[in-house]
Amino acid sequence: MIELKNITKKFYKTGREITALKNVSLHVPQGKIFGVIGTSGAGKSTLIRCINLLEKPTSGDVIIGKKSLLQLSNAELAKERRQIGMIFQHFNLLSSRTVFGNVAFPLELAGFSKDEIKTRVKELLELVGLEEKVNDYPASLSGGQKQRVAIARTLANNPKVLLCDEATSALDPGTTRSILNLLKDINKRLNITILLITHQMEVVKAICDEVAVISNGELIEQGTIGEIFANP
Ligand code: ADP
Ligand code: ADP
Repeated sequence: MIELKNITKKFYKTGREITALKNVSLHVPQGKIFGVIGTSGAGKSTLIRCINLLEKPTSGDVIIGKKSLLQLSNAELAKERRQIGMIFQHFNLLSSRTVFGNVAFPLELAGFSKDEIKTRVKELLELVGLEEKVNDYPASLSGGQKQRVAIARTLANNPKVLLCDEATSALDPGTTRSILNLLKDINKRLNITILLITHQMEVVKAICDEVAVISNGELIEQGTIGEIFANP
């Protein structure tokens, strides 16, 4: 479903070259939950930004489904990117809009009618268990509730792939578990492939089918949870 082929990403800053990713190759099978774990500065954000093409790799190829994203025109790229949902550590909700308004936002951009939007938002809020908060503003919600809104919003576009950028790092352990259970549920019920990046071991152990360890821009280990965390 997601394939990275020899991705290298270099940044140039005040005459200095920083290699954030070195020859990274990985394959995330359709329908799986894949985790990339590493410490701060290891290259996790750069990796995820190369997959949704917020960053263009210096070399290498990104393939989603059967399409090589690097060979698409800008119009095709915009279309493909709608198939990729993303959630973040700090939720990135619109504070001036209610829960309804946040989840409706991508549907408004896509040109759905008011009635269609109402029906779809209701469905999505039921899916994430937040129907009763439909008219509340983000500021009045807990961290876990905010992340549920963000998940509903990104699912509005019917993505094939969900990218999670430290999605539980701002949450307490109990809330982290409930959000991870929701992600697992979405993965199973909607058959959405999930790629998550995290510095938290518990997260990958809790829900990932496969995991890769990133260090200094390189994938140093890759395998099933059993293989990577096997006790010697
Ligand atoms: P992580 O998400 O694992 O903390 P990042 O991908 O953010 O790691 O960063 C990897 C390396 O690339 C770091 O050395 C970081 O400083 C550098 N880096 C990331 N983005 C940029 C950028 N836009 N310009 C210059 N250096 C960057
Ligand atoms: P995040 O992990 O959410 O990307 P950061 O603070 O690491 O947050 O990065 C914020 C922005 O700055 C990103 O666009 C990232 O690519 C860029 N960035 C990260 N590290 C560096 C760096 N060393 N030099 C320049 N830009 C950077």
